[in-house]
Amino acid sequence: MDTTPPPVGRDAASTDTAARRDLSGLVNGEIRKIAETDVLSLGVAGEAYSFMCECGCMKMVDLSLAVYDADGSWLDGHKPA
Ligand SMILES: [Zn+2]
Repeated sequence: MDTTPPPVGRDAASTDTAARRDLSGLVNGEIRKIAETDVLSLGVAGEAYSFMCECGCMKMVDLSLAVYDADGSWLDGHKPA
């Protein structure tokens, strides 16, 4: 009979990171939509918007829509090589 407990610690941590990445994608999608329609009049084309870093660190990064569309939202050094 296998009584080995599941490796909760590491799996929970990686699930957390995956969940945060998912969340950043959702949030960025909404920010992108808002920026596109400018329903809140937050800015104009060419101005920076705050996106969530896609690595899952939950930090914000200010990017223009052009940069976000081309490369996604990453803080310096956070983008996987
Ligand atoms: Zn990051």
